[in-house]
Amino acid sequence: MAMSERPLRILLLGGTSEAAQLAERLASTPGIATTLSLAGRTAHPAVGPLPVRTGGFGGIIGLAEYLRRENIALLIDATHPFAAQMSNNAIAAVAETGVSLLAVERPAWIKTIGDDWEEHASIEAAIAALPETPQRIFSALGRSSLAALCAAPQHRYVIRVIDPITPPPGLPYATIITARGPFRTEDDAALFGAYDIQCVLAKNSGGSAAYAKIEAARQRGLKVHMIRRPMIGARPTVATIDEAMDWIAAHHSPRAERGV
Ligand code: NAP
Repeated sequence: MAMSERPLRILLLGGTSEAAQLAERLASTPGIATTLSLAGRTAHPAVGPLPVRTGGFGGIIGLAEYLRRENIALLIDATHPFAAQMSNNAIAAVAETGVSLLAVERPAWIKTIGDDWEEHASIEAAIAALPETPQRIFSALGRSSLAALCAAPQHRYVIRVIDPITPPPGLPYATIITARGPFRTEDDAALFGAYDIQCVLAKNSGGSAAYAKIEAARQRGLKVHMIRRPMIGARPTVATIDEAMDWIAAHHSPRAERGV
């Protein structure tokens, strides 16, 4: 990317491996000054090359104020596909401020031959669809789903999360496993074998880092209760880091910035 007189100021909404990869690329691109924004949900986020701000903005109004105050020209939303609140706030804040928006969104996983998926619109719907008789269930739904799991406390859950948590009293048969992806199919298949897992709870996150559990479930013939992605409003979207860099070069070169 060519140098401009003033750097292009970007706010990168992160919390994903894509955001971390994009941060590396933006940090090494001349003429760009990027701040990475994290929600602060993980105790030890991977440290990257960019300045980081942490914590919510205070809704749409707070984000719009931040964009104006920091002279942000481009907001890149590389949050997780299930971070719908943040993504919809970003759409509303750019509509208010006139800042450009680009979303980096990994494609959803698609059911393939050998997959036994039951798809659900929400975590609550997936829990409601579990059998009455106690099952041994692997949950990759994250810590925010613990309250929902309490609606079906008879099951034995193996819950994988990034940071240590204590299962709530409403989940008497829960085993917590802490681990950070990327995961390997053979490891997840071995994990399912070790706990004699009968079905899997997953969000359709897409990407490769967490796909191992889907492949492992396929190998072992396990049902996957798959949560569909939440609705996010229309916005310019790319699927990869390379596409994001191309989009930035096309829309925010010095010529484009000056409106030539
Ligand atoms: P969410 O429900 O969409 O967002 C809730 C609130 O958290 C937002 O309104 C915003 O607060 C704040 N927030 C979220 N992402 C932020 C960011 N990158 N920087 C600053 N504030 C942020 O989000 P979530 O599902 O809880 O996810 C939180 C973070 O974890 C995101 O960064 C996401 O990329 C990451 N993550 C989420 C999942 C998942 O399954 N949901 C999985 C992996 C990683 P204000 O309204 O106050 O601005």
